[in-house]
Amino acid sequence: MEQKIPCFCDNTFTVDIPEQIDLDANTEYIDQIIDGAFLNFTCPGCGKKHKPEFAISIAWPGKKVRFEVFPELDRGEFYRRKKETPDKGPLARETIIGYPELSDRIMVYRDGLEPIAVEAVKYYLYLKAEETYPDNELEIWYASSTPETLEFHIHGIKEDEIAVMKIPYSLYKKTLDDYRKRPKDEIFTALRVRSYLSVKNTMRPAELK
Ligand SMILES: [Zn+2]
Repeated sequence: MEQKIPCFCDNTFTVDIPEQIDLDANTEYIDQIIDGAFLNFTCPGCGKKHKPEFAISIAWPGKKVRFEVFPELDRGEFYRRKKETPDKGPLARETIIGYPELSDRIMVYRDGLEPIAVEAVKYYLYLKAEETYPDNELEIWYASSTPETLEFHIHGIKEDEIAVMKIPYSLYKKTLDDYRKRPKDEIFTALRVRSYLSVKNTMRPAELK
């Protein structure tokens, strides 16, 4: 689908955006999404790099999932909509809001982790980080894992600096076991709004609840 991108230099240029992609058929997109190079465009007039967010549907049959990705700008609209269209097709729908969250979730699937346990761990990390930095707008993203640890990156403590936080793999595993035993616990139900699983659901303002 053609989309227009307006630039600060008063030039508007047209780009062609795929409406759907399949990560099994086009594995090159996996790395592009993870490293932030996905759908980056350069203004032909002034050379400025643009990273617009467009709605896109991303199937990953190998992981039995289909991501419905919305731009961060549509977050409020997603909550206000209250309903979603019935799911079609064999792949479970997961809503994702914003490309940073898309990159995070793709890494979680790539590394064979359970998104709900990762989001629950993030929730604990947010609580801890907010105690230390009550005045900062923090973003916490999954970064990598080893058999011993999961690594998260915290943005927003200082400008242009990323703090690294490592948690033992056993904490992740315990969270996952808790979820399997008691999926209806409040911590887990609070992470989900319809098909949207995200720690950000616990942080939305009252008017969007
Ligand atoms: Zn330009």
